[in-house]
Amino acid sequence: TSTAAAELLTCANAKLLLDSVDAFLFDCDGVIWKGDKLIDGIPETLEMLRSKGKKLVFVTNNSTKSRIQYANKFRTLGLSVSQDEIFSSSFAAAMYLKVNQFPPQKKVYVIGGEGIVQELQLAGFTALGGPEDGEKRAQWKSNCLFEHDKDVAAVVVGLDPDINYYKLQYGTLCIRENPGCLFIATNRDSVGHMTDLQEWPGAGCMVGAICGSTEREPVVVGKPSTFMMEFLLQKFNLSTSRMCMVGDRLDTDILFGQNAGCKTLLVLSGVTTKSILDDPSNKIQPDYYTNKVSDILGLLGE
Ligand code: PLP
Ligand code: CA
Repeated sequence: TSTAAAELLTCANAKLLLDSVDAFLFDCDGVIWKGDKLIDGIPETLEMLRSKGKKLVFVTNNSTKSRIQYANKFRTLGLSVSQDEIFSSSFAAAMYLKVNQFPPQKKVYVIGGEGIVQELQLAGFTALGGPEDGEKRAQWKSNCLFEHDKDVAAVVVGLDPDINYYKLQYGTLCIRENPGCLFIATNRDSVGHMTDLQEWPGAGCMVGAICGSTEREPVVVGKPSTFMMEFLLQKFNLSTSRMCMVGDRLDTDILFGQNAGCKTLLVLSGVTTKSILDDPSNKIQPDYYTNKVSDILGLLGE
């Protein structure tokens, strides 16, 4: 972990960085796009990196889409990125269950969106909840007992714009009444840019609600946890010392890269400003920082 102040990316260190890495891991929101808008210069930059033989991987904490849906989003934005190169926290949740040999006859209760449900189904698991429970109302008359499926052995929580008291009770009962029930959080981002102009409560809000009611802590599969890193290292046979993590968030992206021993590049095109980076209370310093990914083009004279 680097404690030295981040260096501004320059012609000289950009060239060194490129020569010293074989793979770039890109965070998505704030780096590749902002909401549904592509950030300036991304297609040319990704093309240049590919032409130099660099492996590109995209790692997003946003669990609302599946990898198939992300591949479509990349295509819509004019970027050719294959499903294999995408690691979303929704996919990570499904892979966590797979790696830990979750019994396929057991069920998973989802507090979250379509992305998580789709990834669980693609991995062969039965998912309950998610968008389907978005309109449901919990009843609590004195003669009414809330029933939940006793085959649920994992609760996955991610961003859920349709969170309600019914889902909270469902997830809470699954965990409280079965000490062996897994509690998995896709990520714990405090806030996210749901719109271009404003931040809204992130998955950390829904995860915090279930922590509060169950008095349990989740396994986090998104950044900065090492789960996705270990998974993608195995898949691509990469060496972390020759990888660079590019992100806009210090406590997820940069920490994720640093925990694994990757080089790290902070871009100021997302949630982190130069004054947040320089604030004495900030203990996370990337190796390098620059305004946006495509600055690399100019610095390398491409
Ligand atoms: N979760 C949600 C719901 C978001 O809207 C966002 C960003 O928009 C994120 C997480 C962070 O995504 P990323 O890791 O791509 O920056
Ligand atoms: Ca981001």
